[in-house]
Amino acid sequence: MNLTFDLHSHSTASDGAFAPARLVQEAASAGVDVLALTDHDSLAGLQEASEAARHLDIQLINGVEISAGWQKRTLHIVGLAVDTDCSTLQNGLQQLQTVRRERAQRIARKLEKIGLDDALARAESLARGAQITRTHFARLLVDAGLCSDMKQAFKRYLAAGKPAYISSEWTSLESAINWIHAAGGLAVLAHPMLYNMSAAWRSRMFSAFKNGGGDAMEVCCGGSTPEQIQLSARDAQQHQLLGSVGSDFHHPEQRWIRLGKIPPLPSKVTPVWSDNRLAARLNSAIL
Ligand code: AMP
Ligand code: MN
Ligand code: MN
Ligand code: MN
Repeated sequence: MNLTFDLHSHSTASDGAFAPARLVQEAASAGVDVLALTDHDSLAGLQEASEAARHLDIQLINGVEISAGWQKRTLHIVGLAVDTDCSTLQNGLQQLQTVRRERAQRIARKLEKIGLDDALARAESLARGAQITRTHFARLLVDAGLCSDMKQAFKRYLAAGKPAYISSEWTSLESAINWIHAAGGLAVLAHPMLYNMSAAWRSRMFSAFKNGGGDAMEVCCGGSTPEQIQLSARDAQQHQLLGSVGSDFHHPEQRWIRLGKIPPLPSKVTPVWSDNRLAARLNSAIL
């Protein structure tokens, strides 16, 4: 049986538009068989998502997307099939949530200088108690009429090197991988083509990730081109990493990224769901 996997998605527990239960419903309607909810540095949406999945024809994998620093850059490491009760992972994420709150205060101060009043309080109210991300500040800039869309908000203000960018001390690549492993999960390097790296830097990144104990990389992402998939498939083979597929769905306005609409994994790549840490979580009835 050919299953549809989507192993990277966001809810209102971080910067997604849908509440966890709604996200699971939307994924099930879109024909997704196995969905991972992977909010930024947070496990807060997983209980609601699992509960929703129980009533639908879909399997929910507990996931998280961890912000990690490497060589002065930020990398995103997805953890799949993590035990949400693991205190090592919980404590690690709590550290990152503190980094996020402090960063939000500093971003807000910069935006206030640009003319956006009350930026922190407004971002907090958009986030409704969830992790504050740059996506919330981008929405604020659009709502305030200072930018025409989210893309422009990043390009003008929030992206690295722009006036409201703050570089943060996330955790190291190795600790992100270790926390995921402590929780029994698989560490997946997210969207490797999105870091604007040269081929040489990408290769260094894969080596560092593999040497740190990393298990897999995303080969097929929402919006990946056939060329990017071929390149990533080769990288996965070369660095002996398993391959994952994930839309990185955030909100329906991003019309080119849809739940479950991800090109299939090239056959030369070993899928991440062949690993027992993930396979053991899947209901045998659907395999
Ligand atoms: P943060 O983890 O708070 O730095 O926020 C990163 C999030 O911002 C990513 O996960 C994306 O959802 C979003 N993002 C980053 N760059 C862009 C961009 N150029 N356009 C739209 N969203 C972006
Ligand atoms: Mn995001
Ligand atoms: Mn990401
Ligand atoms: Mn993501």
